[in-house]
Amino acid sequence: MHLTIRNLSKTYPNGVRALNDVSLDIPTGMYGLLGPNGAGKSTLMRTLATLQDADSGTVTLGDIDVLKDKDAVRRVLGYLPQEFGIYPRISALDMLDHLAVLKGINNNKQRKDMVDALLQRVNLWDHRKKAVSSYSGGMRQRFGIAQALLGDPKLIIVDEPTAGLDPGERNRFYNLLSEIGENVIVILSTHIVEDVRELCSNMAIINLGQVFYAGTPEDALQALGGKIWEKAITKAEIDDYQQRYRIISSKLVAGKPIIHILSDDAPGDGFRPAEPGLEDVFFSKITATPSEG
Ligand code: ADP
Repeated sequence: MHLTIRNLSKTYPNGVRALNDVSLDIPTGMYGLLGPNGAGKSTLMRTLATLQDADSGTVTLGDIDVLKDKDAVRRVLGYLPQEFGIYPRISALDMLDHLAVLKGINNNKQRKDMVDALLQRVNLWDHRKKAVSSYSGGMRQRFGIAQALLGDPKLIIVDEPTAGLDPGERNRFYNLLSEIGENVIVILSTHIVEDVRELCSNMAIINLGQVFYAGTPEDALQALGGKIWEKAITKAEIDDYQQRYRIISSKLVAGKPIIHILSDDAPGDGFRPAEPGLEDVFFSKITATPSEG
């Protein structure tokens, strides 16, 4: 199974061009769609999940025409939206059973086995009789994955799944996602670089509705090899350095800014060579010119 997106564009009625000629090739495995807030990630996810229409372009999943044959997509799709909206007061067990009925799993025994197995898999078995509305953020996301896995989907879309999770919950969620089969496509949309670093073998960086990078994290890191330089400066010096160098990131370490700049040659001036990280890739790409998918 392979997801092929070609020249996808979408402009909202208010004139915002949320997708601008997006082309991507998404193989099986975990695929990271990384971009800042407002980049167009949710618009792309909702379009792939058949919840809204694009203005132009094509999407195929295996031999399914995703934009036209929505029913065929829905039969193989698992979707964890950014916001569920309302969390039901009924138990996780009853809710999952109900959703399984909606997915067309009518055989009672088969449905019970599937729901029980999923609750165990996402580690909610002990909490299965509690209302989903009483769950913590991490438990809700794990419930969200359980409902997305109903019916053995081939394409799983998770939109900003780790936003709002504490570090422990995030780790548990990473472990769960990384266990999801190798024979399915999992698209993880996120603005959190760590999500992609921990989980994804392929990735795209999007901003302003356009693709700025598509490939493996390793290739992106390699391309920055020898070009990232760092220096600890004072807060008062930041403006001055911004004028003189292309600062791609700055983080505080013990209250002191450490800046990363991008430069083909050694800048001197007290800068030390630094090992490129995925943050450097992200910030250097979203400030550059978009590339073809
Ligand atoms: P992301 O998921 O990366 O944060 P979105 O796809 O939600 O990005 O949004 C992309 C752009 O489209 C943003 O500028 C956003 O304000 C705009 N947008 C999203 N949904 C709508 C909508 N229903 N109507 C108008 N503009 C929208």
